[in-house]
Amino acid sequence: CGIFAYLNYRVPRTRKEIFETLVKGLQRLEYRGYDSAGIAVDGPRKTATDINDNTICLIKKKGKVKALDEELYKKDSLDLDEELSTHFGLAHTRWATHGEPSAVNSHPHRSDKDNEFVVIHNGIITNYKELKAYLITKGYEFESETDTEVIPKLTKYVYDNRENDITFSTLVERVIQQLEGAFALVFKSRHYPGEAVSTRRGSPLLIGVRSEHELSTENIPIQYNTARVQEKNSHNRPDCTNDIDCVGDGRAVEYYFASDASAIIEHTNKVLYLEDNDIAAVTGGKLSIHRINRQAGEDPVRAIQTLQ
Ligand code: GLU
Repeated sequence: CGIFAYLNYRVPRTRKEIFETLVKGLQRLEYRGYDSAGIAVDGPRKTATDINDNTICLIKKKGKVKALDEELYKKDSLDLDEELSTHFGLAHTRWATHGEPSAVNSHPHRSDKDNEFVVIHNGIITNYKELKAYLITKGYEFESETDTEVIPKLTKYVYDNRENDITFSTLVERVIQQLEGAFALVFKSRHYPGEAVSTRRGSPLLIGVRSEHELSTENIPIQYNTARVQEKNSHNRPDCTNDIDCVGDGRAVEYYFASDASAIIEHTNKVLYLEDNDIAAVTGGKLSIHRINRQAGEDPVRAIQTLQ
């Protein structure tokens, strides 16, 4: 029922600081109601800056966020003082719709035992039974009773069957084309270390941006994967060019993904609300937005707003 995710790009944070940020984000969302909570962070790295060798660690707990918080500090394998200069962490509070409240049914859900893809979800996937039945014929083994678990598994299936290298954003685009129902989703993957993808349809999701320097633009042009239109938007900036105009310019920046602004406001008042079928991706510290199809009369930019 609550999503919170935190990406620090070239902003060194210890694992303890990352835990604290994630837990605080969940606490701000507690009022929405929930029955269990969980997080995903990177496991031990060979060196403090090595993001190419990461494992993903999931910690999930039935009950209160406080119980999860206590659990985080019991993992001997996770060095609390290890500094992670670029890192993406997920956190979730669940209000069960499919499957009882339990640690295994709580989020993040994963593609496989190696945690290649992990996902947090708010909402309901109405066609999960068909997707699950199909994935089982392909050899996937499910561990939970949730509707959500089809998402990371479908992501791995699409990834393993890709013909060429694809971006994380394109991968997620292909996955959500198969999904029916309502969702706000955030994805993390070992195959795309330090990258984030989030998307929504019917459930809310916004992104907070914090940067010590001027943000490179306050309006992000949307990239359409069909019909690449070359028109000027109201700010006289060409939209949908190949050269992505986006927030972040490779310098230190932090992003916060959340189901509502109450979890973001203490970090930044610069926020961007995603609209249905927007796919927001952070790669190399830069945020860009993609959509599957352009809708008639649609605003071709997403504006960064300042919360009062
Ligand atoms: N339908 C999902 C589940 O039961 C997500 C519920 C939620 O939004 O917390 O796990």
